[in-house]
Amino acid sequence: MPQSVDKKTMARLSPFSERNNFRLISVLVFVAALFIAACSTTDTLHPSKTGSVTDAPRYVFYFIGDGMGLAQVELADAVLEDDSALEMTTFPVAGVAATHAENRYITGSAAAGTALSTGYKTTIGTIAKNGDRSADLKTMAEMARDKGMRVGIVSNVSIDHATPACFYAHADSRRMYPEIAVQMASSGFDYFGGGYALGDLENGKPLGALVETMKDSGYTVIQGWEALGKAVPGRKYWAYGSYESSGALKYAIDRAPDNLTLADFTRHGIRLLENDRGFFLMVEGGKIDWASHANDAATVAHEVVDFDLAIAEALEFYRSHPDETLIVVTADHECGGLGLGYADKAYESDIGILRHQKLSAQAFAEKVSRWAESKRVSFSMALDSAKVYFGLGDAILDSALVLTSEEKAALKKAYTASMSGDNGGQAYGKGDPLTVSLTELLNHKAGIGWTTGSHTAVPVPVFAIGKGAHEFCGVYDNTDIAKRIIKVADLSR
Ligand SMILES: [Zn+2]
Repeated sequence: MPQSVDKKTMARLSPFSERNNFRLISVLVFVAALFIAACSTTDTLHPSKTGSVTDAPRYVFYFIGDGMGLAQVELADAVLEDDSALEMTTFPVAGVAATHAENRYITGSAAAGTALSTGYKTTIGTIAKNGDRSADLKTMAEMARDKGMRVGIVSNVSIDHATPACFYAHADSRRMYPEIAVQMASSGFDYFGGGYALGDLENGKPLGALVETMKDSGYTVIQGWEALGKAVPGRKYWAYGSYESSGALKYAIDRAPDNLTLADFTRHGIRLLENDRGFFLMVEGGKIDWASHANDAATVAHEVVDFDLAIAEALEFYRSHPDETLIVVTADHECGGLGLGYADKAYESDIGILRHQKLSAQAFAEKVSRWAESKRVSFSMALDSAKVYFGLGDAILDSALVLTSEEKAALKKAYTASMSGDNGGQAYGKGDPLTVSLTELLNHKAGIGWTTGSHTAVPVPVFAIGKGAHEFCGVYDNTDIAKRIIKVADLSR
């Protein structure tokens, strides 16, 4: 099973062609056309005009790409082979949502997650509580539970991270990981899937107390393929995969073929949650944000594709229940100020060269750290690695990858800083100097720029399909996404 998913991913990321420039423009025109078409044909999308309770979709999917601005979506689409498109961009309805927090123009995952889960603005860092943290805000997942629907929460970062937390927990700060994680046990939700809980980790090792609390509350706690495959509907589960010290699953670009993926946790979630009273399933692609914070464009593209594979699982379910299913895909905010154009290249783009990056900046930095310890890797060996893992310097792969003497000199400077254990100061931000230099160089050669290592205030895309999808057409606030889901799915009773 993991092999098949992996093959699918590989097939979709097959070599890039010269039609890329045309493709960039055509996809944008296509998205704009979709938007206009969807907004002008809402009547044909109305499943019914009676407005009765029976109109509510029985199955509700809510996909949140953390840090996934329209540029991140377009980047992944541009890296895909020409004859394929991201599933989310094929949805018949598109919208645009503003993201600001109650007390800051540029939002964070907690405030944005609260807006997306409750329909109310809150302050930075707050999890499903009002701005002054004096009262809890009921989340749509809790409403779905109270309506008798089954509820699932899936994320490929730790399950107590801000976005998933905003659906089952209430906390003054997103950093209160143990206090957040324990609220999984009292939530009464049916399925938690993906990463481990940061609140039960110490130096990357599990403490185990949370597992006991979950078991005491009636949950079966499972890890890995076999156990997830044997899980049976009607029981409550916390299922997690192989995780890093942060509790998150590995980046898609780095993971082993037998690692459970976001799509796997989504597919099994659907299997476990399906029942006559319906379900609500939230799925977060959490590492689009992490890779964007690192300004690591190739890893971003892989994460968006990985997120889209999870969406494809919901879409498959939708095709067999088209009159009873609503799928909404959005983001909490953009991250990195990703620009699909770079000053030195003016109107030129070589986005396809990102396909030659073979691991995340994070994984490469871990290699460089080991080189610094061993002191056995020369600069020419480092350049060989740059060729293997980033394609940089490999003229046979693509002439855009050739390194100039100035670029080699800059890499030598960065290499020296990395080997001395020096962080290189301001020039390299917070990252490893050589890794930062290589990813930045590849991005610039591809025609990509970043404005920041933080979030931005640029509005985010909303894609919808299924029963009630027409409600998501237009330009609105992120709180409206939650309000509309709650209304369409009749959750607030
Ligand atoms: Zn976020």
